[in-house]
Amino acid sequence: MAYNRRMTDSPRNGELDLAIIGGGAAGVLVAIQMLRQAQAPLTLAIFEPASQLAQGIAYATPWPEHLLNVPAAKMSAFPDQPGDFLDYLQAANAYPGEAREVLGERYVCRHYFAAYLQQRLREAEATSAARLQVIAQPVLALHADDHGYQLQLGDGTTLHAAQAVIATGNSMRPLPVDGADALLADDVVEAWDYDGVRTLAGGHALAIVGSGLSMADTVLALAAAGHSGPLHVISRHGLLPLPHAHGGQPAFDPQELLPMTLRQRLRALRQHARQAQVDGIPWQGVMDRIRPHGQALWLSLGEADQRRFLRHVVRYWDVHRHRIAEPVAQQLQALQASGQLRVHRARLQRVWRDGDALQLSGREAGGGNVQWTIGAVVNATGVETRASALRNPLLQQLQVDGLARPGPHGLGLDSSVPGDRLCAAGGQPQARLGVLGSLRIGSLWESLAVPELRQQAQALAVQVVAGAATSMP
Ligand SMILES: Cc1cc2nc3c(=O)[nH]c(=O)nc-3n(C[C@H](O)[C@H](O)[C@H](O)COP(=O)(O)OP(=O)(O)OC[C@H]3O[C@@H](n4cnc5c(N)ncnc54)[C@H](O)[C@@H]3O)c2cc1C
Repeated sequence: MAYNRRMTDSPRNGELDLAIIGGGAAGVLVAIQMLRQAQAPLTLAIFEPASQLAQGIAYATPWPEHLLNVPAAKMSAFPDQPGDFLDYLQAANAYPGEAREVLGERYVCRHYFAAYLQQRLREAEATSAARLQVIAQPVLALHADDHGYQLQLGDGTTLHAAQAVIATGNSMRPLPVDGADALLADDVVEAWDYDGVRTLAGGHALAIVGSGLSMADTVLALAAAGHSGPLHVISRHGLLPLPHAHGGQPAFDPQELLPMTLRQRLRALRQHARQAQVDGIPWQGVMDRIRPHGQALWLSLGEADQRRFLRHVVRYWDVHRHRIAEPVAQQLQALQASGQLRVHRARLQRVWRDGDALQLSGREAGGGNVQWTIGAVVNATGVETRASALRNPLLQQLQVDGLARPGPHGLGLDSSVPGDRLCAAGGQPQARLGVLGSLRIGSLWESLAVPELRQQAQALAVQVVAGAATSMP
């Protein structure tokens, strides 16, 4: 049973102890933690305009070809119950007859993860001292006062909350090509419009802009829907995500990397990868070994080295770090080998409608001009991380009104580390305003995936419950 309780027809008066803004995976993880930890009848609300909680961008796909890119054993909602997602999958009989160890290594269908969080939310609500409302409205603005925040909602109403958590998640980048704004709505489909992508399937050529995980989602969906025409994947670097691999991890201590410069770290990692291969361990094991240390690695890198990383290394980092399941990689390779999937390293210049088709022009890395005749474009450019380009009205208002400022290197919004607080324009952490997820990318770098979200959600709930206790009469 999906969690889609709507509260638009319920009375919304009264003071909230906590407003959770955004009901994707991150917001729901905060709500579950709050419901579990609350010892008093606190009032919570999740504000989420989408029809289902816990889906957000990543887990809204109903299609079986869209898999988690993290093995099921690592996707628990709870830091202290690592097997919980596996418990859910087994209880739901999602993969009948599959042994737990095998299931733990599996990249399961993404829709299971939303269903899992919805179930854990219902269970937490049933036994909690706190009460949860779900309000099907976007929050457009937050205004601070002495007791917390006045929330301005999409329907023009306002509500007051003593504390708030920003869990607004991922924003999509606009299509980076001149002329895109003049196209018809059907000419450009966002990769995260999972049903819209399928409607493009046919015999004509399509362009997919971006070559990361959303590109993989798009290609798989089109293939499953029977697309037979050419697929032109276009990105500046032309690098595709690399596959996961099983085979263990090398035994080196990632802490040794922390005092090193960027150059020294890269040299050390290459050396570990070479040694791993000698020992029969795939290079992916090296990345898995340092994965839990991602935040420490970022925080210990000097500011200039962080900049060098963003300028010169990030595109290679991304394809090694954000990997795809082996069967997905195999399918992409087969489509490339057949000639249907063609990867182009090019900078896009212009797109325009020409009769029944679109024309897309670009400049190849080698310097030559190139032009594609296509039926439509899929925007698979991924997550927008630049604070100045965030199009979410709430995030714009927070920056304009001084309740937020861009994070380090202009990435996401600045937040306290440790502390999970949103920093105001002057840099001071705001005691009543928490934040988690991708908005913290500049502060933490690793802040997108469930292993980080569950930690942040737990820590935020501890602080919110403590804050509510001290402000009680
Ligand atoms: C395609 C894709 C696949 C991924 N796969 C994995 C994976 O397999 N494993 C993994 O660990 N991570 C994965 N990730 C990382 C993913 O970002 C996180 O796991 C998680 O889904 C992020 O959840 P979120 O709630 O922070 O963001 P989102 O999913 O973006 O949800 C944010 C929610 O906030 C709402 N919202 C936004 N603004 C407002 C507002 N002003 N008022 C009210 N509501 C608002 C939105 O409607 C949305 O529902 C994937 C990411 C993507 C994009």
